[in-house]
Amino acid sequence: MGTLFRIKLYAAGEAEAQNGFRAAFDRVAQLDAKLSDYNPESELSRLSQTAVDRPVVVSDDVFTVLSTAQSLARDTDGAFDITLGPVIRLWRVARKADRLPDPESLRRAGQLCGYQKLTLDANRHTVRMDRKGMQLDAGGIAKGFAADEALAVLSKAGITRALVAASGDLAFSEPPPRKKGWTIGVDSLDDAHAPFTKIIVLANGAVSTSGDTEQYLNAAGKRYSHIIDPKTYLGLTNRISTTVVAPKGIIADALATAVCVLGERRGLAYMDRQPNASALIVSKASTVPVVVQSSQFHRLFGP
Ligand code: AMP
Ligand code: MG
Repeated sequence: MGTLFRIKLYAAGEAEAQNGFRAAFDRVAQLDAKLSDYNPESELSRLSQTAVDRPVVVSDDVFTVLSTAQSLARDTDGAFDITLGPVIRLWRVARKADRLPDPESLRRAGQLCGYQKLTLDANRHTVRMDRKGMQLDAGGIAKGFAADEALAVLSKAGITRALVAASGDLAFSEPPPRKKGWTIGVDSLDDAHAPFTKIIVLANGAVSTSGDTEQYLNAAGKRYSHIIDPKTYLGLTNRISTTVVAPKGIIADALATAVCVLGERRGLAYMDRQPNASALIVSKASTVPVVVQSSQFHRLFGP
């Protein structure tokens, strides 16, 4: 998945800890082999060849990720879209070359995108794509899911106090001994040396941050994010960073990406309607970052 996973856990002894780490990292590796878009042999990548115009049965893991992505896509009017693969690839190349993607290539790649072109069948567990050349990209959701699954494996091994972190996507179970929760610092936009915007203490849940990170392209006086607006196929140029708290990593991860696309106003309104998730949004329209919180975030973590 193109990132580093870290696991922190409390176990009865050295041997239990080693077994836990091994089992959890094995599960992450297994999911990487299924979901990575960097790997052309992953189950997800191979669907580009096998599932065009015909339904293909997929693993439970792939089905879970795709069905969660599709329901969020419907819910956000396509702000979250797992079918953006062809466009995302052009932007990846563009970032490497430090040059904007060619508009005609973007337009053509865009014609292969759109969550309505991806059909799932929950009874048969199948996936079908409407166009040759479609590519699924789980970069906005897979890390959170993998963090959940690593925790599940640990819990099966009897390890109930653990935290899994995949860059900005964290999932955690019971707190460290004698602690109320895991202490998590929410970063401020831009400045790695600035104090945390907020410190939150949580157990049995997930926190994901999306947005203004290391991955962007500076061109023509603008800063283009690695998060794509599915309406324009352009990287976001509004400076925004979103932190979502949710019961599961798969949800926190996907929601954080989606809220960045929706933007501060619509994103906040959307999060205020979620019964089980909350968000803190940092945006920077001018030089001063502005922080807003959904009502539930405010209730949980104060002003
Ligand atoms: P995250 O770091 O979780 O916000 O995910 C960002 C990654 O999600 C990008 O690097 C792309 O792989 C993918 N992505 C970009 N734009 C979107 C979008 N609008 N919907 C879903 N995934 C996206
Ligand atoms: Mg995400």
